[in-house]
Amino acid sequence: MNNTENKNGKNGIDTNSIKLAQTASYNKLKQNNSDWAAKRVAEDPEFFTNLAKGQSPEVLWIGCSDSRVPANEVTGTKPGEVFVHRNIANVCVHSDMNMLSVLDYAVNVLKVKHVIIAGHYGCGGVAAALSNKQFGIIDNWLRHIKDVYRLHANELDRITDEKAKVNRLVELNVTEQVYNICKTSIIQNAWMERHDLEVHGWVVDISTGLIKDLGVSNSNPRSLGYVYEFDNVETAAAH
Ligand SMILES: [Zn+2]
Repeated sequence: MNNTENKNGKNGIDTNSIKLAQTASYNKLKQNNSDWAAKRVAEDPEFFTNLAKGQSPEVLWIGCSDSRVPANEVTGTKPGEVFVHRNIANVCVHSDMNMLSVLDYAVNVLKVKHVIIAGHYGCGGVAAALSNKQFGIIDNWLRHIKDVYRLHANELDRITDEKAKVNRLVELNVTEQVYNICKTSIIQNAWMERHDLEVHGWVVDISTGLIKDLGVSNSNPRSLGYVYEFDNVETAAAH
C-alpha cells in the first residue's frame, strides 16, 4: 500500500460511505414513487386508470431545465394537463428538431391552446451567456442568448448591477423566444386554421414562486413583421 492509500481506498476516499449514500439516494426515488402512486390512488382510486386512457393537455410549457421550475408545480396542474419541453435557458431555435417535434405534436395533434415560454430569474444559463468565460459544449447553445444580448446591448449595458442585468436579459430572452416560436411555420399555419392558440411569455420568480406575465402574448402573424410572416399557402397558390 503506498502512502496515498488507506483502508478505504486511494487518496483517503471512503468509497464504502460514497456507495451507501449513492444507493440510498437512488432507493429514495423508488420509495417516493411508490408513496406517490399509493397517495394518488388513496385520493382517487380511478386516478391511474383515467390517466392511462390518454392525454389532452391545453398547455405546452417550454421552460428551463433548472430543477427549481417544474411546470406542473408552478402552475398547480396535475399529470395530463401540461405537455412539457425543457432545455437550458428555455431557448427556442428553429433548427432544433427536438423542440420542433414537441411543438408540432402539441399544436397539431394535441391542439393545445396555450404555448408558454417560461424563463426564471437568476437563470444560470443566462448568467453564463452574459460572461466571457468558456464552459465547453454549452457555449454553442448559450450563443443564442448572447445574440439576444447583442440585440438589446444599448439597454443592458446601462444596467450596472450584475444581478439586475441577468434578470433583465432573462425577460428579454423569454420575449425573443416567444417571437421565435411565433415565427415557426407550425404556429403560423395553425393560426390560419384556428383562433384558439396563443403564445405567452412568463418569468418565474423562484424567491416567491410567482410568475410574471411579460405581456407579450401573441395570437396573430400580423405582429411578426419584416419577412417572417408567411402567406397563407392556399391563398398564395391561387395567385
Ligand atoms: Zn435557467
